[in-house]
Amino acid sequence: GELGPEQEGLVIAHYGQQLDVEALEGEHTGEVVRCFVRANIDSLVTGDTVVWRPGKNESGVIVARGERRNLLQRPDNFGALKPVAANIDHIILVIAPEPEPHDNLIDRYLVASEITDIPAVILLNKTDLITDSNRQAIDALLERYEALGYEVVRTSAAESGDRPSPEVERLVREQTCVFVGQSGVGKSSIIQTLMPDESIRVGAVSESTGKGVHTTTTAKLFHLPIGGELIDSPGIREFGLWHMTPQEIEYGFREIRDLIGHCRFRNCRHMGDPGCAIDAAAQTGKISEARLKSFHRILQDMAEQQARGLKAD
Ligand code: GDP
Ligand code: ZN
Repeated sequence: GELGPEQEGLVIAHYGQQLDVEALEGEHTGEVVRCFVRANIDSLVTGDTVVWRPGKNESGVIVARGERRNLLQRPDNFGALKPVAANIDHIILVIAPEPEPHDNLIDRYLVASEITDIPAVILLNKTDLITDSNRQAIDALLERYEALGYEVVRTSAAESGDRPSPEVERLVREQTCVFVGQSGVGKSSIIQTLMPDESIRVGAVSESTGKGVHTTTTAKLFHLPIGGELIDSPGIREFGLWHMTPQEIEYGFREIRDLIGHCRFRNCRHMGDPGCAIDAAAQTGKISEARLKSFHRILQDMAEQQARGLKAD
């Protein structure tokens, strides 16, 4: 009886049992309310839409979760997958001439994008570092991914000053995105161009209430001044680097997915096995040498990781 009417909200941060919910309708639209969760709702994450009711002391109670379009997950310390963010439009996979792109890592992120069904865009940063000696290799790499249907965008955070470059702006506007990629490629620098003013960091509102939650490393949702949303956390930036099954890896390589079930043997390991449809496609150039190598490498890494894990048990 003490609760106000049901209304829609958006989870912009979560701290254990409590979440920050931004009101999406009514007189408090845009305000952030610290909410508790009804016991019968399973785990909520940043980016989830919810139904909540205002309660006492400017707090609220979440009574239902909205439909999820998709979900990002991360392994916890025990290797179990934990949901971290929902309803993402784009994974922006940042690469750069330096540190040199790691094929294998790009493909691992792309496999994760395919498995979670969140489209990935490849963003080449540090275009100012392209020289005559590295241009060919970078172009060849990017062309390989464009040929597979991935969108490729180029930018230089260093040259865009304290505003996003037009290319980055077009990418994030009216979208909810996350930035991923290896350390040093310039993710923080690009994000800095998108959020030069600390005060727009929505999550910061709840920190000022001083409830001892300022050290959180969970995902937070930020409204960008140019429009669009960014969900970010240290964990999200490494999203996708978890254990994958051979089936997931096959599915995660677009050009290999179509060949699933076409090998002569059902338990084909695609490593020179007789009648392997994937090897045959590589012979005719339908699968690039680099991607096939990467595919084998990821399968092998995962098998080794699995073997180590089993031994540890
Ligand atoms: P993160 O680890 O991916 O977040 O990368 P950072 O944003 O911390 O950037 C790593 C280094 O690259 C820093 O020294 C940045 O100043 C530098 N950097 C970022 N963007 C650019 C760029 O467009 N051009 C150049 N030359 N350096 C950049
Ligand atoms: Zn095969």
